[in-house]
Amino acid sequence: MIITKTKEEIELMRESALIVSKTLGMLAAEIKPGVTTLHLDKLAEDFIRDHGAEPGFLGMYDFPNSLCMSPNAQVVHGIPNEKPLEDGDIISIDCGALKNDFYGDHAYTFEIGEVAQETRELLKATKESLYEGIREFKNGNRVGDVAYAIQKYTEDRGYGVVRELVGHGLGRKMHEAPNMPNYGKRGRGKKFKEGMVVAIEPMINLGTHRIKQLPDGWTILTADGKPSAHFEHDVALINGKPELLSTFSYIYAALGIESDEEDEFKTQVYD
Ligand code: MG
Ligand code: MG
Repeated sequence: MIITKTKEEIELMRESALIVSKTLGMLAAEIKPGVTTLHLDKLAEDFIRDHGAEPGFLGMYDFPNSLCMSPNAQVVHGIPNEKPLEDGDIISIDCGALKNDFYGDHAYTFEIGEVAQETRELLKATKESLYEGIREFKNGNRVGDVAYAIQKYTEDRGYGVVRELVGHGLGRKMHEAPNMPNYGKRGRGKKFKEGMVVAIEPMINLGTHRIKQLPDGWTILTADGKPSAHFEHDVALINGKPELLSTFSYIYAALGIESDEEDEFKTQVYD
């Protein structure tokens, strides 16, 4: 069952999404060669708690940490460890926070030092596909419209769309209905309703869409060992249109990147 949210509930969800957004912004300034993912995980946990929230992933389905950190060929659900990041790596950082009984859930794939051009292009296309999808999250459309937009944009560029893992509704639970796949057919699936909040999160591979799982029971990686990218926004359907609750603006501020990519999806200026 799809649980729509009131305006008041959406404002609470915006708070949770902003804590996650700020956490990723804080991490953006700390990510460099030699830093371990476990160190970043600890920074994030402290930051989330300092902002009056709980880490959303810690202990969920028995996940051991606050962040899912998935470098290079890892797609999602990587477990933080003591291995230092290296120049040329990419890393997907997925972060959750729980505040006022509502979850935020937001992810970005970062570049560490000099990253190969074909991998940089994968990251760019994956992020653009996220916005292609978000644009379709509007009155009258269905799950398949978002899914198709993401699939078309990325497959047209020769990339592989991960099938087994999907976006989702978001609210008092991290994973609510409906599932939001990144592949599908136009006009199919659940119809969008005012007050819905979803996490849209393309997971796109440089090579084929096939994945495998490590024996740790968590880490998902590409079957062909090629890099994978992952970006995630929390989006509410307000007045028939998609509005971002999360923002990459803190990341961009930390990295000195100028971007107007979110402007069409927000009605409120963030501090
Ligand atoms: Mg996530
Ligand atoms: Mg998610």
